[in-house]
Amino acid sequence: MTSLRLNYVALTDVGLRRSTNQDSGYASSHLIAIADGMGGAAAGDLASATTMNIVRQVDADLGDVDPLETLAHAVAAANTKLGQLVRDDPSVEGMGTTLEAMLWDGHRFATAHIGDSRAYLLRDGKLTQISTDHTFVQSLVEEGKLTPAEARVHPHRSLLLRVMLGRDDNDPDLAWFEGRLGDRFLLCSDGLSDMVDDATIEQTLGAETIDQAATELVRLALEAGGYDNVTVVIGELVDASEEPDQHLSSADGRPQLVGAASEGPRGRTGQAASGSDTVVSTPAAAVDPEELRYAPQAPSRSLWLRPVGFLAAFVGLLLVVGVFAYQYTQRQYYVGEYAGQVVIYRGVDIDIPGITLRHVEEGTGITVKTLPASYAAQVRAGISDVNSLQEARETVEELRSAVPETPEPSPSPTPTKKPSSRKTQAA
Ligand code: CA
Repeated sequence: MTSLRLNYVALTDVGLRRSTNQDSGYASSHLIAIADGMGGAAAGDLASATTMNIVRQVDADLGDVDPLETLAHAVAAANTKLGQLVRDDPSVEGMGTTLEAMLWDGHRFATAHIGDSRAYLLRDGKLTQISTDHTFVQSLVEEGKLTPAEARVHPHRSLLLRVMLGRDDNDPDLAWFEGRLGDRFLLCSDGLSDMVDDATIEQTLGAETIDQAATELVRLALEAGGYDNVTVVIGELVDASEEPDQHLSSADGRPQLVGAASEGPRGRTGQAASGSDTVVSTPAAAVDPEELRYAPQAPSRSLWLRPVGFLAAFVGLLLVVGVFAYQYTQRQYYVGEYAGQVVIYRGVDIDIPGITLRHVEEGTGITVKTLPASYAAQVRAGISDVNSLQEARETVEELRSAVPETPEPSPSPTPTKKPSSRKTQAA
């Protein structure tokens, strides 16, 4: 039997709309992994970086132990760490991350999956998704209530049923996967899979080299709008007896760490606004997960150092831009938390000192605490993928139907929606 080697590449881009990269990616000759963090201001990248920096340690630990067990332990350790970070700093409550990891032991892969990041296999030119999204829409697809095509454009496609939150009620899917010579594996964040359809991914992943495929996939996601951070990690099984292609980024044998996990505690904007052709793979830094703590960045004071005239012109320009920007923000809605309640905000969930860009548009009467953990976390982080007040209200109704029924005193019990199989979520 042919002895197989894993070639690899990891690539990320902050995208065109976000200021920070909350994705983390890792690739080496034994491990390919991706984590897509969530949780607002600073917590999403902390969750993804912390998780990645713990999980990638299995790369060094591969000995006689069972790879799947090793991976499971690492995921559990990362989850425990997230829980500890939340207890130490309640301001990061609600942060979480997806995780997709494939550990190659020379014969097969041990895999771990939680959330809506994806693992795809390209074999004989045909693309298959080998992970199952832990999302609300995927549960509807499985019940036959939505087609995959409808799920793709569903306004609430990013509502997650399972994600790593530092709690003990959200376990990953763990499984073995047999790889074959020529197989290509793509792990990606929803910044790719939301923007680029499977047929295009299939064609692009088949590029001459995996480096070309990675660059082209990221470019396509940006070209389609780049609404989110986009991260791709690709592994390819090749004949181990063949000379490595010296043009590949993995030819040097060094691991590649990209995104939030590759940035220090203060470097969160280091990869902002990179161009489509920017390969930002960096060798794995020896980052001690213990050092990764949330370090808020002070507002820039550089303006005060500029001449007053320049400042005045700049402020004038800002005012013009600001008026348009403000008007734009006031046509946006999102679902979030206010005083423990689920509310619909008008505006955007961005903190700018001295400026309020949001206000509560509507209350809902839903207490955040009564929601299943993964929903509550998303509300705390802000559910912003709604395009109108109407869509925000629909999201609220989905949240309302997810509240486990309790014998609450209610003057006029209204008929609730059928308790459908949403009960499958971690309650
Ligand atoms: Ca994402």
